[in-house]
Amino acid sequence: MQNNKESSIKNYIPSTYKPGIDPELDLQILIEKCQKALPSMNEELIRKAFRFCVNAHKGQLRANGEPYYTHPLAVAEIALHEIPLDDFSIAAALLHDVVEDTRFSLKDIQAEFGSVVANIVDGTTKITGIFQSREISKAESYRKLLLSLINDVRVILVKFADRLHNMRTLDNLPEHKQQQIARETIDIYAPFSHRFGLGRIKWELEDLSFKYLNRTAYDDVKKALNATRQEREEYIEQFIQPLREQLAAANVLCDISGRPKHIFSIFSKMISQGKTIDQLHDLSAIRIIIDSTHNSDCFLAYGIISEIYTPIPERFKDYISVPKKNGYKSLHTTVIGPKGKRVEIQIRTRSMHDVAEQGVAAHFRYKSETLEPENRMWEDKELEEWASWVRDVFDNAGEEAPQQLYESFKLNLYQNEIYVFTPKGELRILPKDSTTVDFAFDIHTQIGYHCIGAKVNGKIVPLSHKLVTGDQVEIITSKNQIPNRDWEAFVVTHKAKSQIRKFLNEEKRNKVRNGKEIWEKYIRKNSVHFGDDEFDKMLLTLKYENKTEFYFAISLGTLPPSLAIDKLREKSKSEVVEPFQINKTLVLDTVREGSSDIQIADGASDSKDLMYSYGRCCNPVPGDEIVGIVTIGHGIKVHRENCKNIVDLLGKKSSRIVKLNWSTLHDGTYVAAIRITGDDRASMLSDITSAIVGVKNTNIRSVNIDTFDSVFEGVVTVYVENIDHLEIIFKRLGKITGVKSVERYSG
Ligand code: MN
Repeated sequence: MQNNKESSIKNYIPSTYKPGIDPELDLQILIEKCQKALPSMNEELIRKAFRFCVNAHKGQLRANGEPYYTHPLAVAEIALHEIPLDDFSIAAALLHDVVEDTRFSLKDIQAEFGSVVANIVDGTTKITGIFQSREISKAESYRKLLLSLINDVRVILVKFADRLHNMRTLDNLPEHKQQQIARETIDIYAPFSHRFGLGRIKWELEDLSFKYLNRTAYDDVKKALNATRQEREEYIEQFIQPLREQLAAANVLCDISGRPKHIFSIFSKMISQGKTIDQLHDLSAIRIIIDSTHNSDCFLAYGIISEIYTPIPERFKDYISVPKKNGYKSLHTTVIGPKGKRVEIQIRTRSMHDVAEQGVAAHFRYKSETLEPENRMWEDKELEEWASWVRDVFDNAGEEAPQQLYESFKLNLYQNEIYVFTPKGELRILPKDSTTVDFAFDIHTQIGYHCIGAKVNGKIVPLSHKLVTGDQVEIITSKNQIPNRDWEAFVVTHKAKSQIRKFLNEEKRNKVRNGKEIWEKYIRKNSVHFGDDEFDKMLLTLKYENKTEFYFAISLGTLPPSLAIDKLREKSKSEVVEPFQINKTLVLDTVREGSSDIQIADGASDSKDLMYSYGRCCNPVPGDEIVGIVTIGHGIKVHRENCKNIVDLLGKKSSRIVKLNWSTLHDGTYVAAIRITGDDRASMLSDITSAIVGVKNTNIRSVNIDTFDSVFEGVVTVYVENIDHLEIIFKRLGKITGVKSVERYSG
């Protein structure tokens, strides 16, 4: 019977075959590699992800002219062999560029592949942008942002695989791109991969970056290394020979290898020690990996080596008895080899080696003590705690399947904060559940006061929209907008809450001051005299808690001064509170001074002092057919004849409804609400607001907008003089591209 190796598909394809020619063949090869490398896998998931990737990137080419899918395929293979990851990560690697570069959205990925894969793809897409900011290596907030996105450690590992492949294929890009990407890689990706314990990937990223950033130096070091390679290899072989014999004689099973140092680290050493490459002795180091689970075997090996070569005592480091904070375990020693040369040796068991090379947890602090403080990353307490937790998971993993192991890596750090951006890319940190209004106040109090809406990632959202990490938020303001009591219900930040309250209190104070003026003017004009006692009695009769509430009511027009005095007189006459009645001789004050906007339709009252107010539901303006509801204590409520609230009342208590006409004397402005629907496109809101304010003497009072699946729906309240004025606005709005309907709005 043939075994798997012999029936491998590789035996049937020509050696010149390159990925990209036949997707189905590429898939078969990938599946076969997965079968060999993964202890278990969901083969269907990988097949589906591969085909989705090929289809989504159809027609796209890489800079080298190959079909685009060869890139995600190569990233998947890095994730499979070099990091190495599980089947979910392979699928996510295949899909990692789909959301960014194709017509498919994260929702599609979620629907097809489930939330684990979708989450890795989403995180990978988002951290790409964050990594583009060089601030990430310094600013605490960027580190937090990053951590908040990596709720699954596979996110960052797939990202490293992606970057590694991009670096390996950098030759095909124009030079300025090469420089930019190489700089980003050496500044950000290499140190980060180091923190995640990806030792091998780190040095490859460094060497590749170095090659593009300083080609001359790179070539020089490489040439010098090549020139001395044979000599070095012979020396190492000569050095190792007695070790191999003695260790075997002591029954210590091990692998001994000469490890060439990588180009960038040699170059760094030349710079830091001010030496030429010929003056550096330790271009190679020796690593001994012991096939044993007993730590003591490492010390046994050390003892044997010390008898062969003289150790330099001060260079001995025992990271086994006292592991590094990051969990790194190994013995380090430097000995004097043949010809008096110093040779570094690392001694560790196989499991120690695996953690050091591939462990996400390893290396968090390795060598960083030599760096300047601003170059140290991730030394904050939370990360340390996380790292130690990761270590625990590794140490106690035992026989646990890799999948469950990764599942338990979910981060719960910083989950109470969100990280969002201004249009210029500035980062703001807000509490979880913050809305666009919170964001607006966070930017500036004035922006908070005047915000009418926001665009989140380019889409219009209502003010109460909750933001999530990664959102880019643009606030839309209007100078006529003012904070609304409703806002208090949905804002979460202290700043927004207190500023809204402050504004509303201020507004009320102004109204109270204004009400007091109206009142004092009225009693002066009518020569009414009040003692303090009488005033307090009046408040009691009219059921106002205090003077403030009384003046406030006067200012709002809900209590005309004349009514207050009448009430008081009635009260003093009979001590009985009469229900309010409207009659034709009743003379009441108006809300507006100097003229009366409405009159009762039978013509009996052209009274300047009729008490009335407008229904907030339908906002009538001069020219509308209007009726009034006689209320107790608040005079006449004026509504549009077709207002829903009136239609309900008609027939029931028709005696309370009076027909009203607009007075010819009306002036000033009135609030009207307009409902607009249409397509949600980029400049819809600004087109609407500019159409409105473009009409002479028009101001916007408020805007409430909502979008749903690219449908725009908004209610704009405006100040207008009359129905003709409103008609002009309607016409203008109707002409805007994408607007489907414009109508009067009744709340
Ligand atoms: Mn990519």
